[in-house]
Amino acid sequence: MDTEAKASQKECVKVAVNIRPLITTELLMGCTDCVTVAPGEPQVQISSHAFTFDHVYGSSGSLYSSIFEECVLPLIEGFFHGYNATVLAYGQTGSGKTYTMGTNYTGEGNCGGIIPEVMETIFRKVDAMKDTTEFLIRVSFIEIFKEEVFDLLDPQSHAATRIEGAAVAKPTTSRAPIQIRETASGGISLVGVTEAEVRSKEEMASYLTRGSIARATGSTNMNSQSSRSHAIFTIYMEQKKISNACNGMAYNEVAGDDILLGKFHLVDLAGSERAKRTGADGLRLKEGIHINRGLLSLGNVISALGDEKKRKEGGHVPYRDSKLTRLLQDSLGGNSKTVMIACISPADSNAEETINTLKYANRARNIQNKAMINRDPVADEMQKMRCQLEQLQAELVFCRGGSSLEEFQVLRHKISLLETSNGELRQELKDQKITCDHLKQCALDAQVEKDKLILKIESARNGKSWDEIDETEKDKEIDLIKGYASKIQELEAELIRVQSFSRPCRNLMMDFPTLDDPSSGCDARTFDDSSEAEEQEREHSILQHQLDKELQELDKRLEQKESM
Ligand code: ADP
Ligand code: MG
Repeated sequence: MDTEAKASQKECVKVAVNIRPLITTELLMGCTDCVTVAPGEPQVQISSHAFTFDHVYGSSGSLYSSIFEECVLPLIEGFFHGYNATVLAYGQTGSGKTYTMGTNYTGEGNCGGIIPEVMETIFRKVDAMKDTTEFLIRVSFIEIFKEEVFDLLDPQSHAATRIEGAAVAKPTTSRAPIQIRETASGGISLVGVTEAEVRSKEEMASYLTRGSIARATGSTNMNSQSSRSHAIFTIYMEQKKISNACNGMAYNEVAGDDILLGKFHLVDLAGSERAKRTGADGLRLKEGIHINRGLLSLGNVISALGDEKKRKEGGHVPYRDSKLTRLLQDSLGGNSKTVMIACISPADSNAEETINTLKYANRARNIQNKAMINRDPVADEMQKMRCQLEQLQAELVFCRGGSSLEEFQVLRHKISLLETSNGELRQELKDQKITCDHLKQCALDAQVEKDKLILKIESARNGKSWDEIDETEKDKEIDLIKGYASKIQELEAELIRVQSFSRPCRNLMMDFPTLDDPSSGCDARTFDDSSEAEEQEREHSILQHQLDKELQELDKRLEQKESM
């Protein structure tokens, strides 16, 4: 990790050419296409000149849509690894810089361009990484107009724009220019510039729209809507790994609060044409001269950086000659991965300017940048100290001779495992506490319910004491028992009566001959009497049986009552 932080990637500024199609005004003027592209090669030919670039887009055989995939997407990848990135659109007015960058973003329908695609891609990635990484994203949008820096996101300048209308050049007096300061570490800062925090693509797009509207625009002979200012839309991003995403790492690394920083400049430069070609005079001419000052310095910087001999001699690079070059110091020859897109018109009427653009852009290919991963200095220092501590601990253990280095590593791994399991146990304890609290609540509810029932019973007792209630209950039971006893007595008396009545009858029956015996000679009356007695006896035995049952039943109930 430490070595990664120190490593810087040396690579040249990549230059792509974007050739827009002939537009209606050029066709109406009878212009013809004077630019040809060598088949299968990134080479542009115009009159007797031939220039080779990293990529060429827009002519037949090369897809315009691949600008983003081939030139910008690798920069976004780097941006998420902590590298700075810059995309610069260079070319004469009307060559398609704003169209290519998408700086004129209104958020409605047909607004294509690089910036909207960058926003879309960044937030798609942020969304995919949000479980493991925290992001802080801010944007600023400035323009350099007549060698002054203005904040396009300044709420006051926005209000002024709405009143005056976007297509009208605004007097610079209504806006306060922003001062450039050098930081202690040699960087550049803009004093008081709005750096708006954004959490979504929509929010970021709203700032792009706001700035686009506020941007100074005026009309010239070449392009009625073209801007004569340099516009720089910058995305700042801070990334921090969420610490619980580090589970399984060595314990010293778990606390690692490595913060990656990065800035992404998206630059729509003003028209590169010479002042005389705009047909401008007065105020417009002055604006043209100022624009050229920025672009002239940019050209000088490119020359100084692109010349290998001068570079080796440690020649002076005139960054301080203009605000544009001061602000883009990192992007050209510094800590950034940079792509320049040279926009050109294929019309023969623009041939001279097109050749100038291609020459200018071609020199930029020689610029060597030294992009490096940007880390928060404090977090970086902490990380280094942590590594040092770890090393010293290992050495100490080794010197004591108590255990070998491998043993130390094993122990450290064990600690990290124990820490993980400790975390799990803590969670379990937390869950148990929640269950316990729930049960306590249930017990409390039951107590309340019980109290309520007691109150209900109290009111039902009507002021009587429990003894009184017991007495009443007892009286009732005694009455019942008495009732049962008298019934039993009655039934017993009845039984005795019946038994005494039935016994003589049975004796009689035994003395007399039976009905079947014809020799018995008994008369009909005697027979009738005996059968009547028999019938009575049967009835009595049934009754007796019933009474027995009833008695048993009563006994049972009596027992139950007693037990109650
Ligand atoms: P610049 O910003 O360089 O002055 P613009 O981006 O304003 O130029 O483009 C000038 C005109 O050319 C605009 O009308 C724009 O719609 C048109 N244009 C630019 N590039 C393309 C392209 N690739 N395809 C079609 N039209 C384009
Ligand atoms: Mg423009």
